[in-house]
Amino acid sequence: MEVRRVFVAGAGQMGSGIAQVAAQAGLQVTMQDIAPEFLDRGMATIRRNLARGVEKGRITAEEQQAILERLKATLNLEAAAEADVVIEAIVENLQAKKDLFSELDRICPAATILASNTSSLPITELAASTKRPDRFIGMHFMNPVPVMQLVEVVRGHLTSDETHAVIRDLAVRMGKTPVTVQDYPGFVANRVLFPMINEAIYCLMEGVASAEDIDTVMRLGMNHPMGPLALADLIGLDTCLAILETLHRGLGDPKYRPCPLLRRMVSAGLLGRKTGRGFYTY
Ligand code: NAD
Repeated sequence: MEVRRVFVAGAGQMGSGIAQVAAQAGLQVTMQDIAPEFLDRGMATIRRNLARGVEKGRITAEEQQAILERLKATLNLEAAAEADVVIEAIVENLQAKKDLFSELDRICPAATILASNTSSLPITELAASTKRPDRFIGMHFMNPVPVMQLVEVVRGHLTSDETHAVIRDLAVRMGKTPVTVQDYPGFVANRVLFPMINEAIYCLMEGVASAEDIDTVMRLGMNHPMGPLALADLIGLDTCLAILETLHRGLGDPKYRPCPLLRRMVSAGLLGRKTGRGFYTY
């Protein structure tokens, strides 16, 4: 199957990044969201990234123009009918994603592959909300999508070999390195990353050190490019909480219990960079 058209559901940090990288790879891309302000914000981010690419000499002004011409923004989910592959990047909420996928299953032709960028929700369960679990897969990009090399390709219980091959090829075309993982909570990336982020939040809650000092320890002591609290702010604290809850519920092990300070910050609406305040103020 030759992938020419990609439909991206959700124009947030991840959706806009996925749409940008797909358009840069020469694909025709439609990006959809539920309100014009979210689409405008997503398109503004893409324009800004591409303009910076021109300034830095990574792409030419002609390429920038061609990329933008391959990219459409819409509020109309029915436009997914034209896609070869749909990549879903809406909020990390199981019911919201199931509702969206059952609609997409109705709208899209039988051959269309449905992929989810979920950080941690079960691919097999999302696939079960459609009549095409063989053409359903996880395509887990890392944040920020234009910069990060990895895509975890997550095989659901019924994902076919052909779907898996098409999506690995697509990731390579988008300039990424795919790694195939099986469908267990948190896959590999977040199952290994989140106990560290959660523990950093416990350290802050218990007053072991300040946020800056916790991050400095991990940057200078472990050579991490970014401290765990700054990373949590980048990911979004609501998304962090959702991932920890999925790990906790899915693996049933108390070591994944979300830190109460994280819960309290999410309740207070301090979600990190996207709201201007989290462990740091932006
Ligand atoms: P975000 O809050 O920036 O964006 C989510 C977007 O989805 C919003 O614009 C929202 O309006 C839109 N949306 C909500 N319901 C919708 C619907 N029914 N139809 C269409 N659009 C809808 O969130 P994000 O950080 O981009 O995360 C999106 C997904 O990507 C989540 O599943 C998350 O777990 C996953 N993810 C996030 C990261 C990260 O670091 N933030 C990394 C990898 C994967």
